[in-house]
Amino acid sequence: MKIFYSETHRQHEPPFEVFDGGLRVPYLENPDRMHRILNALRDVDWADMHAPTDFGLDPLLAVHDSEYLDFLASAWTEWLATHPKDPSTLLPATFALRRHPHKPKSLLGRAGYYIMDLSGCIVAGTYEAALASANCALSAAESVANGESAAFGLCRPPGHHAGKDYAGGYCFINNAAVAANWLSQKARSQKGRVAVLDVDYHCGNGTQDIFYDRDDVLTISIHADPNHEYPSYMGYADERGAGQGLGFHHNFPLPAGTDDDAYLKTLEQALQNIREFDPKYLVISAGMDIYADDPLGTIKVTTAGIGEIAEQIASLKIPTTIIMEGGYANEMLGKNMLEFLLPFV
Ligand SMILES: [Zn+2]
Repeated sequence: MKIFYSETHRQHEPPFEVFDGGLRVPYLENPDRMHRILNALRDVDWADMHAPTDFGLDPLLAVHDSEYLDFLASAWTEWLATHPKDPSTLLPATFALRRHPHKPKSLLGRAGYYIMDLSGCIVAGTYEAALASANCALSAAESVANGESAAFGLCRPPGHHAGKDYAGGYCFINNAAVAANWLSQKARSQKGRVAVLDVDYHCGNGTQDIFYDRDDVLTISIHADPNHEYPSYMGYADERGAGQGLGFHHNFPLPAGTDDDAYLKTLEQALQNIREFDPKYLVISAGMDIYADDPLGTIKVTTAGIGEIAEQIASLKIPTTIIMEGGYANEMLGKNMLEFLLPFV
């Protein structure tokens, strides 16, 4: 299996985050996560590692707001220029309620407009890391478009919480959405469509936001009930798409304690939605924080359960681009990711 990975992610390592009202060190979404997965991949003979191709900004601008990308590109330089005494990380202290129309000129004002929570810390290498991560996703998508049955974008930072014009949940550029949109352009000439299935523990709110009014990209997210879990304001079952996209988005919120059997029953409903849509390409947002011992999770899926989930998805036999999202039980992250990839090899 072709796997696309870039060491550039190491440039994004915020010194802390604020979580549940306290300071958390280290930042939970840290470079060690990639180290664990790479170590596991070294033990198998099917991992065909590649550096990503640079696709430029056009595929990113096709799903993200250009002023938002400008903000990501210049935020750190502006931060150093305006706050030279405390440059450790750019993190806003106020957050925009988007029901108000004004976008302020100050950097911190814009940061509060474009960042939805306290995990969206920007440091010197955040933008470069996010670009490289998106290129890993695009490179995996390209190899699937060129005939591979599956490919893996080993992306960091993750992407599925990043919307058209906002960062959050450790995410800055929505890798899965960028890949899915790129594939949808490829599929269009062949009258084909694309489905995105998000199995991360958290709702893929950014992916939902980006494709909400489109009928050519089906988006499905299976996740912890947002009544009790991040991202709190999206991910409810009655969110079904809008306009032309009505009926082309599905959320499957799950209660805390959901085990392998209950998860697989819900997955079967999602897979039935995908079969009916009959996409030419499938993109998976693969978050391993559904694992029972994940420090952020309350769902109780085992390592064997992760393998069974992947087995069921692979049985669709649709060319599949797998995108790395969350997963914070670092000591098991390599093993869990291998288990997920194996049915696609
Ligand atoms: Zn997650």
